[in-house]
Formats: sequence, C-alpha cells, structure tokens
Amino acid sequence: MTEGKIPRVKFPEGTRLATLAVREGLPPSAWGENSEALFLTSSFVQPDAATAAARFANEEEAFIYSRFTNPTVTMMERRLAALEGTGACIATSSGMSAILLLGMGLLKAGDHVICSQSVFGSTVMLFGREFAKFGVETTFVSQTDVAAWQAAVKANTKLLFAESPTNPLTEVCDIRALAAIARDAGAWLAVDNCFCTPALQRPVEYGADLIIHSGTKYLDGQGRVIAGAICASEALVNEKFVPVMRSAGMSLSPFNAWVVLKGLETLAIRMQAQSERALTLARWLETQPTIAKVYYPGLASHPQHALAMAQQSGSGGAVVSFVVAAPAGDPAAARKNAFHLIDSTEILSITANLGDTKTTITHPASTSHGRLTEAQRQAAGIVQGMVRVAVGLDDVEDIQADLLRGLSGL
Ligand SMILES: *Cc1c(COP(=O)(O)O)cnc(C)c1O
Repeated sequence: MTEGKIPRVKFPEGTRLATLAVREGLPPSAWGENSEALFLTSSFVQPDAATAAARFANEEEAFIYSRFTNPTVTMMERRLAALEGTGACIATSSGMSAILLLGMGLLKAGDHVICSQSVFGSTVMLFGREFAKFGVETTFVSQTDVAAWQAAVKANTKLLFAESPTNPLTEVCDIRALAAIARDAGAWLAVDNCFCTPALQRPVEYGADLIIHSGTKYLDGQGRVIAGAICASEALVNEKFVPVMRSAGMSLSPFNAWVVLKGLETLAIRMQAQSERALTLARWLETQPTIAKVYYPGLASHPQHALAMAQQSGSGGAVVSFVVAAPAGDPAAARKNAFHLIDSTEILSITANLGDTKTTITHPASTSHGRLTEAQRQAAGIVQGMVRVAVGLDDVEDIQADLLRGLSGL
C-alpha cells in the first residue's frame, strides 16, 4: 500500500477486551453515528479513474466492491480479530464457507490433512468427500488421542483441524499438544471455536494458527443469521485468503455482518450467563434417577474436566448432552424415551441450532447425526437415548421444570 489507508479507531494503550468488544471497528462516518452503520451497498464510488486503478491494483487501501471490501464487514472482522487475539479476520457467508475458504487458501492437490473424527458433520463431509475430489487426502483421528494425531503425520501433512468441545459429546482436545505436533510437522493448526467463542477460549494462546467460526451460533447469539469467519495473522489472511475471497466470493452480506457485529457486543455476558445456567442444569441432571449419563465439561465426572477448565476460562460452555435411562441393549426403547422427553417440553425449542438465547433441545442420533450408520453412531458414542440441550437465557428453573415433565414419566 502506498497511500490511502482505511482508518482505525484510536484506543489508549492497553485498552481491554470488554471495551474492544463494543467499540473496535471503524471510526464513525461524517454523520457521527454512535451505533455502527449498515452499509448496504454493492460498490463504492471512486474519486477518479487513476485512483480507481490504484485501488484495484491494491496500491491503495479503500472500499471498492462488497464481494471483498465493505465497511460493515470490516468492522465485524476487526472486532472479532480483537476478541480472538489474532491480527486479522476474514468474514464468510457461513461457518462452512469459512472452512471451504480455509481449504482453498491453504491446500493444493497432493496435500494431507489430519482432522478430528468428532468435528461438525458437514466438516467431515467437506474434508472427506469434497476436498478429496481435488486430491487432498484427510486422515480422521480420535479427538482426544494425542498419540493418534502424532502417528497420522506424513511428509505432506499441511493442516491439522480440530473443534473443541465437540458436538454433542463435548469432547475436549488439548490444543497446546496439537499445536506442538503441527509445528514439528511444518503444518498449520486450525481450531473451530464455535462452542466456546473467544469469550471462553482463545486458541491462539495455545498455539493455534487459525480460528474457525460459525457466526450463526453464539456470535450472532439470537439465531438470526448464517455467518462465518477465519481469524488468523494479518499475513495469513492477506496472502492466503483475501485473494481467494476476491476470486471465489464466499462473502458475508453486510446485513449479516452487522447483526454479528452487534452480537459481539454482548457475547461475553451471554456466554457467562448461559454457561452458568448450563452448569446448574448439568449438576441437576446428574441427580435425576431417570438419567443414565451427563456429558458436560464443567462436571468433575467429565473425562477432560481439568483440561477444559484450564483451556476454557474455568467454564464448561453452554451445551449439555445426556442419555436417558432405558432397558440395556434396547436402542428402540432408548429412542422412544428420548423422544418422549423432547415432546413433553412446553418451553424449549425443538431445533438442532445452538447458540441462541432461546434454549434448544434436539435428538442428535436422528437429526445432526442422522446420516451416519447405526454402527458409526455406536462407535462415536451417539446413542439413541442421547438428548442435547443448548442452554440459552431462559430461567434455569423453567428449563428444569420443562425437562422434568418428560423425565418423571420414564
Ligand atoms: C454450525 C457449525 C458449523 C457450520 O456453520 P454454519 O454457519 O451453519 O455453516 C461449523 N462448526 C460447528 C462446530 C458448528 O456448530
């Protein structure tokens, strides 16, 4: 860039995250608006032909065309980068298109990827089926088995991909250990931080190179828009992802960026309040006679409890999964009991989405993981009696009463 820079908001040295969460972005426009403006424009008028030429040639930084530059999107990107502690961020049209952009930016035919087998279902499909068409090979390994990640490394391994905690089993991976393996292999580590968000977990602090977000979940926080992002160093974003975005156009709409931008302002207090409710709910579920098992990283009974507490700011997050009691070896009865519990609720929303202020309830084996075979589900521990609750801002006593309607009848 020679001259002409998109301006930055000026903060005193050492300004803290809570402040950046409500103020990082761009300086206000000439009108002095206090709440960030929504720039619903596809293009930007250039002062003259020579300036337009310089800007299109990347010699001068300016807003040009909203496929790759838009002020509302830039505000969201800067704010999320500040919260994640990465130098930069690039927003995408969905969480999945963030992973598509990740692959297009970092990988080429002949490269190898190591991916946790417990990641989001569409992520498994994207690596295992779509990228495979372009000659990128992926090895899927156990989320929690560090030795398996190490053993999967090959000379052409370019990327390690993890998600922590996972859905619906809330398995936690040791990000620091995976970062060390990636570093030794000369590969990048990408972490899908959808479940914790930077309010609870900042993967860069443990050595991750790239953070993936589905903005659809907690970043929006009220279940309104589909959005995504990659957070990484300025060098990685500018060299690997901006050119792909310009050519391939998996861009975030300014409107959706504006919704996420405003969502980020309340992210920390929402995550805190929803996680507190989730912990109360998880502890209560453990005392229920008709519940066989509870999965929640905030419980001492969780296999990676200590790691989760260290990595996630002492919080278990806001997603709780559990298995309802049923006669042993009878998956049909287990499913019937799970459906009965879900259908007995009068308040909770029956939907597979999560990260909403409205508490949601779902049956993973027949919805998010319905495309797996029964054998694959058994191997993954996603049994027919499992129910997942993504705790929102409903009063936790109302959530308990709503679940008790079905639980007491089992
Ligand atoms: C929802 C989700 C995604 C995909 O995000 P979309 O915005 O729906 O495309 C990716 N990873 C995780 C962990 C998710 O929960």
